[in-house]
Amino acid sequence: MAENAGGPPGVERRTKPAHESRCGSDESTLPMASQPLLLTHIGGPTALIEFGGVRLLTDPTFDPAGGEYPSGSAKLRKLSEPALSPATVGLLDYVLLSHDHHFDNLDRTGRSLLSSAKATLTTEEGAGRLGGNSIGLKAWQSMTLPTRNGPVLRVVATPARHGPQGRDRGAVIGFVVSIGDVPDQGIYFSGDTVWYEGVAEVARRYTPRAALLNLGAASVPEVGPFHLTMTAREAVEAARAFVSAAEEIAQAFAAADLSHRLRWPELGRSIQIDR
Ligand SMILES: [Zn+2]
Repeated sequence: MAENAGGPPGVERRTKPAHESRCGSDESTLPMASQPLLLTHIGGPTALIEFGGVRLLTDPTFDPAGGEYPSGSAKLRKLSEPALSPATVGLLDYVLLSHDHHFDNLDRTGRSLLSSAKATLTTEEGAGRLGGNSIGLKAWQSMTLPTRNGPVLRVVATPARHGPQGRDRGAVIGFVVSIGDVPDQGIYFSGDTVWYEGVAEVARRYTPRAALLNLGAASVPEVGPFHLTMTAREAVEAARAFVSAAEEIAQAFAAADLSHRLRWPELGRSIQIDR
């Protein structure tokens, strides 16, 4: 919620493909887990995600530094410039908007960008306020969306809680996005949330290739000492939780000093076993 709501420095990790998805053309003909994934942090919670020929933008904030925004009885001031301008970001397919009602997740310039995307995915409450191309989702709701290359983008809305239980700062959702029906190889964007049972459930259900977490332990006077986004300690908790079966196996072998005995054959490729 505040300037220090922070961006998605992310916990990037790769998973071994549990199963394959082949579709479309160009790089989208690659299995999901082999497709290049490009992440560009623009500032605060704003990042460009590119994979499988799809361009997604999280929580658009592009106002220049120095902007002031009313927040209850206080004023928020934006401290840093966005690293890229909307013109530099270029064409967008979809916007993943965790919530629309905080300026540090959707500022004035960011709001003016929404109509340039095919759709803005956000909370049901947010879609009611925004109208236009917005689509409201509730936690665990999923949908598929067309992409330019042919394969579909699958979006699963994930639960988020923007503060302590009973005193959160309004409805927020996160997202797991993937090409085709392989959400366990997708990308997770947490939105503004603390670490709680809802996020732990995301980690139980999916093993995304990358998790973008809004960190910074943001706080506001109205909620006292409680934080509204994840603390560093909670991010460590998340990094522990978002571990793939392959990583667990690798860790177990390493702990047993047996890493040299573990081989991961690449799918479809023969490996020679000498002994
Ligand atoms: Zn917020």
